Amino acid sequence: MTSNVYEHSVQLDVSKCTGCTNCLRRCPTEAIRISNGHAVINHTRCIDCGECIRICDNNAKKAVVEKLEAMERFRYKIALPAPSLYGQFDNLEDVDYVLDGLLKIGFDEVFEVAKAAELVSAYTRQYLKTEGVKLPIISSACPVVVRLIALRFPSLNDNVMHMLPPMEVAAALARQRAKENHPELADDEIGVCFISPCPAKASYVKNGFADYESKVDVVISMSDVYFSLISKMSRDDDVDSMTESGMVGIGWASSGGEATALFNDEYLAADGIENVINVLEQIENGNIPPVKFIELDACTAGCVGGVLTVQNPYIAKTRLQSLRRYIPVSRNFLTPQEQEYIPDLYLFDELPEYMPITQLSDNMAKSMRMMADIQRLRDTLPGIDCGACGAPTCRALAEDVVRGRATIGDCKILEK
Ligand code: SF4
Ligand code: SF4
Repeated sequence: MTSNVYEHSVQLDVSKCTGCTNCLRRCPTEAIRISNGHAVINHTRCIDCGECIRICDNNAKKAVVEKLEAMERFRYKIALPAPSLYGQFDNLEDVDYVLDGLLKIGFDEVFEVAKAAELVSAYTRQYLKTEGVKLPIISSACPVVVRLIALRFPSLNDNVMHMLPPMEVAAALARQRAKENHPELADDEIGVCFISPCPAKASYVKNGFADYESKVDVVISMSDVYFSLISKMSRDDDVDSMTESGMVGIGWASSGGEATALFNDEYLAADGIENVINVLEQIENGNIPPVKFIELDACTAGCVGGVLTVQNPYIAKTRLQSLRRYIPVSRNFLTPQEQEYIPDLYLFDELPEYMPITQLSDNMAKSMRMMADIQRLRDTLPGIDCGACGAPTCRALAEDVVRGRATIGDCKILEK
């Protein structure tokens, strides 16, 4: 996929937008401008982080995902619950209540993403031992981070781990298992539905990684499923023991969970988009301690902080800690034979194409001239970053003018 065909899940409802500029200031990639009284998203720059959804009081920004009904077209329906789903319920003592609830709302089978996460952790331990990998290895699990690196930190592309995220591994393993158990089903009769905490995973499913196509068919929001599940889950029910994951897999829902599952203390874990950008800048400048692995989660507190969740991320995180107390460390260990090499099913070849949002021109001399023009223009602007012109900062307006997307007359202060 190339940048100009990237399909986004974060979208604007123009009819609700008042042009208040709140999202303009919050967007970490300066992807938003205000034009004709409403926000406009530059889709080349957007990384689907969801920050603009969080900040908008008018609900003008939304995550476009599918509804549960989208699964009706499949004869055999498989649910892939993200581990963060378990943190949404008060006093949940046993994950099996959630898995049983998913069967009651119409799924034929559940494949826990937490199970796939345990396998990904086990193979990541192998990956770290691979000769020639560039250190520090940056996790590829958060699609916002992978896209951010492609847009803003191309020099770190080689550090990104070529391991597929647990959602994708779960989809492949779930399909495999369904076909083994139900040989009568044709491939297109099996539908795999990911229950997502964030819009970025929905965008990832639409676009894949470079030439890798996702094996997930439908992405629905965790908040939609939460309300369907609540009415079906009852503590009085006797539920079968179904869970196939342990502390390691469920730990992936919160920041630091993926890194601690490596059983190695040479790691760095950061969460929240501003911290993530700061850490990436520090890596680029060679200013970080000598660690082997870096886990970066765009959402505060990790996936439990995604905009499609229901509960406060810290409450969800605490609930998961209580839930993990009484379960085994992992239910998915590799045999000595399985440890010999990492199967293809877990790996992808190519990262998303480098999309240099900061590059002004393909021609070096022209780029330098444009850079000088931006600097000159910026010095003539008031430098108060008021946002009244529709750009987030005076520097961004100067760049828009030089790129031919705005005029200096857009500055309201100069106009006065
Ligand atoms: S926060 Fe952004 S999308 Fe929401 S009303 Fe303000 S300008 Fe419009
Ligand atoms: S989703 Fe994130 S990157 Fe995209 S427009 Fe909103 S704040 Fe900016």
